[in-house]
Amino acid sequence: MTADPVLTLEDLEVWSRPGVSLAVLGHPIRHSVSPAMHNAALGELAREEARFAAWRYFRFEVPPDELPHALDLLHRGGFHGVNLTVPHKVLAFGRMKEVDPAARPVGAVNTLLRRPEGWAGFNTDGYGLAAAVRETLGRELGGAHIVLLGAGGAARGAAVECLQRRCASLTIVNRTRGNLDTLLSLLEPLAGGIPVRGLDAAGLAAGAPEGALVINATSAGLKASDPLPVELAALRAPAAVFDMIYNPPETALLRAAAGRGIPSANGLAMLVHQGAKALEIWSGVPAGRTAPVMATAARAALGG
Ligand code: NDP
Repeated sequence: MTADPVLTLEDLEVWSRPGVSLAVLGHPIRHSVSPAMHNAALGELAREEARFAAWRYFRFEVPPDELPHALDLLHRGGFHGVNLTVPHKVLAFGRMKEVDPAARPVGAVNTLLRRPEGWAGFNTDGYGLAAAVRETLGRELGGAHIVLLGAGGAARGAAVECLQRRCASLTIVNRTRGNLDTLLSLLEPLAGGIPVRGLDAAGLAAGAPEGALVINATSAGLKASDPLPVELAALRAPAAVFDMIYNPPETALLRAAAGRGIPSANGLAMLVHQGAKALEIWSGVPAGRTAPVMATAARAALGG
């Protein structure tokens, strides 16, 4: 048995662990770095505060059609908190007893907190993005001209966060026009006077703002053979590039940014800060206290 075995619904059916249990559900879950991050942070907290000695974070392989049953079993089994990763964040949204107001426009939850009558849902990805951009690039989403690449789940969360933090403008670029239009219409009621528009790659040179913070929320870059999500040469003097992808640590987009002398960062800090915020929701321990140990554990788990 490894330190963080991959558990299944069968383990949940007979769950009887007495301590405070936390879990991450995904499909697939084997490569998740979250158990390493959270258990490292819990180990550190336990050295300082006895109440954390019985806290432990587990991972469960749960296919999408088994999610409702898994959430019921986790609640019945006394779990204190749950993280959700691909493909569960949107699927779980409608099964919450309550949803944090900031997470409602995102339509997705990644952190669940036990309430007596069911689960309360939160989304810490937006916080993770803002904290990571600040830490790695020294920039704020608020007041920035943002060029956001992608229109999937991560892009939607990022777009909502940028609007909630009052970015100066939001320009969204996506491969498939229909998906872009769907996202733009979801964002319309949230814009509150902030210019929000969609562009295709051909319109970038004329339409994208100068000096923008470019955020890649596409999955282009996960494989070495993937095309660039955007040609940086098509943008007018981008100020910085943040790529949500952290594995591989350097995507073609980040290499292109380095080649042009544009400050850039990968998504590892985002992963760390969304995790630290989730732990804050469960434990009350400020995210800033656990983020450093989580970052060390995440880097080690990713092999670097
Ligand atoms: P989705 O599947 O919901 O969306 C994928 C997006 O990528 C779509 O906009 C899709 O465009 C676009 N895309 C896919 N392939 C290409 C390509 N070859 N060229 C251009 N665009 C492409 O995924 P998510 O939104 O959930 O995740 C997106 C990325 O963000 C992933 O890499 C994920 O790992 C990362 N992420 C990182 C986090 C972190 O903590 N660092 C947290 C969450 C996500 P189209 O509409 O045309 O299909």
